[in-house]
Amino acid sequence: MADKMVEAVPPGGSHETDVVIVGAGPVGLFAVFELGLLGIKARLIDILDHPGGQCIELYPEKPILDIPAIKSISGEQLTRQLLEQIEPFEPKFHLNEMAIGVSKSDNDNWRIETDMGTTIEAPVICIAAGGGSFQPKKPPIPGVEDFEDQSVFFAVREREKFRDKTIVIAGGGDSALDWTINLEPIAKKITLIHRRPDFRAAPDSVEKMQELVKAGKIDLKIAQIKGLTGEGGMISAVETETKEGEKDAIACDTMLTFYGLTMKLGPIADFGLNLEENRIAVDTEKFESSVPGIFCVGDMAHYPGKLKLILSGFHEAALMSHGAFHYVFPEKKLKFQHTTSSKSLREKVT
Ligand SMILES: Cc1cc2nc3c(=O)[nH]c(=O)nc-3n(C[C@H](O)[C@H](O)[C@H](O)COP(=O)(O)OP(=O)(O)OC[C@H]3O[C@@H](n4cnc5c(N)ncnc54)[C@H](O)[C@@H]3O)c2cc1C
Repeated sequence: MADKMVEAVPPGGSHETDVVIVGAGPVGLFAVFELGLLGIKARLIDILDHPGGQCIELYPEKPILDIPAIKSISGEQLTRQLLEQIEPFEPKFHLNEMAIGVSKSDNDNWRIETDMGTTIEAPVICIAAGGGSFQPKKPPIPGVEDFEDQSVFFAVREREKFRDKTIVIAGGGDSALDWTINLEPIAKKITLIHRRPDFRAAPDSVEKMQELVKAGKIDLKIAQIKGLTGEGGMISAVETETKEGEKDAIACDTMLTFYGLTMKLGPIADFGLNLEENRIAVDTEKFESSVPGIFCVGDMAHYPGKLKLILSGFHEAALMSHGAFHYVFPEKKLKFQHTTSSKSLREKVT
């Protein structure tokens, strides 16, 4: 993916909205549209640094063939089109942040908290967390846990933290190359280590990385990582060995590894909601959980007959929005309208 698609709200601070959506996958994005039609504002939280969920992270280029009325669309294109569709509603994105806790505020609204110190209050929470939060896989490097989160990191949460650092970046996919290119202007030195000379990243990123190597701006090492040196949690070198058995130690004060992502239910398990088969049990009238005012749509929702399909999530988002309306506007009556025949709905989306 060449760009990050949307501007994120800087982490931290207290915010208010009508609905907080946990998860900016396809269903979370479409929920913004359905809520928007009813005059309901939304903010989205995602641990990834871009929207799109599984569509972008797991199959950005594969054709999806079962989106109604669209013969074929890639995961990335579907995400871009959803973002375009919800643009009139000006949703706010809190990216690179994990929703870690839910509590009640003094005025009886929900307060959701993230691991970056952001809090958002709203009368409604909609969980659209799919298969769970994407979390980086730990690299199989002996002793890595001694340095984890002190000088070895598995993701970039704040770019500035890497300014003036001597960094080893390990991996050969999009994230490894994107961050090599992105951190090069601010790092003191970068060495990219990959076990093979071919890379899984977008050809454009591979080309840019090779240009940086040619220009002497970064080093590239094709070798296996054998171990780490350092003490007190601070790394001082990465030990490598090539296929031919040549050993080396690359001096560094920081290491970033990108060995792919895995999906975990994560903190949602502790939100106090009834779970079934590790998903949130909901009714099929409003897709509300066991806790009033907390709804769940998309792959994370559990009910008899649930199909983990994008189109099912879109349907759930429409019904959830009607349920959410009564919490956001308790004094108003909801009038069902079609976008084709309602002038006010048409005005909202143009
Ligand atoms: C290889 C593959 C091919 C597929 N092909 C199709 C297809 O052809 N047609 C089809 O309809 N479906 C297909 N699917 C399924 C489809 O991708 C899912 O149904 C869809 O992505 C579900 O959308 P979602 O928004 O519910 O969740 P997701 O896409 O999983 O998005 C959820 C988001 O929530 C975030 N999140 C979770 N917990 C937290 C938290 N605590 N804090 C912050 N963020 C959090 C995650 O990081 C993630 O970005 C496919 C799936 C795969 C893996």
